[in-house]
Amino acid sequence: MFCPFCLNENKNLEDLILFSTENTMCVLSLTYVKEGHLLIIPKKHVKTLRALDKEEYDDFYNSIQKTMNILNKKFDAQKILLYSKDGPSENKTVEHSHIHLIPIRKDESLPPVYPLDTNSGFERKKLTKEKIIELKKFLK
Ligand SMILES: [Zn+2]
Repeated sequence: MFCPFCLNENKNLEDLILFSTENTMCVLSLTYVKEGHLLIIPKKHVKTLRALDKEEYDDFYNSIQKTMNILNKKFDAQKILLYSKDGPSENKTVEHSHIHLIPIRKDESLPPVYPLDTNSGFERKKLTKEKIIELKKFLK
């Protein structure tokens, strides 16, 4: 089955990468809840983060922290929403483990706990090619 989060399968993924390390990549979420919505994805195709070895997990966690610092600085994020539905589920679209990071400004309220649920009432927009270039420049 095609995996949108495997670099060797999804050729468009590379355009969305903000930074990458040996085992991890930080990418713009192509469909996003709000501006600054980023994903941290292990380079290895795993269905759960529990499948990462210590080195891969440490790298993954360091990438989360680095990304949180970027969001804090660039979006004046007082809070950062981190979420992941790690492991198999019936309505999951991607079977490659990842975590979402969404910046929340001081004056903003939190989106629903799981904004990707279609019944959350939270709209997900799609990044345009121009927006991808603009955001990557802004977040560098
Ligand atoms: Zn994959």
